[in-house]
Amino acid sequence: MEDEKLTEISMKGAPPCGRCHMLVARYAPQVVATTGTYHRECYEAWYFGHYGRRPSLLAGFNGDRHRYQVREAKAA
Ligand SMILES: [Zn+2]
Repeated sequence: MEDEKLTEISMKGAPPCGRCHMLVARYAPQVVATTGTYHRECYEAWYFGHYGRRPSLLAGFNGDRHRYQVREAKAA
């Protein structure tokens, strides 16, 4: 499947965290947002600083339990 190929490529080059710029380890808790990949802790800290509340995260991005997707809640 196409999706499996894409995942494999993105896993090989660990992406830098969008906040602290350290590489996000393959199995580290991480948030995959439209703006990039973040350590989960980094994303929560950033989000809380901006919105004053914790982000709503959905586990299981691409079937990986340590990867989280952001549930956008702009209307909230
Ligand atoms: Zn980070």
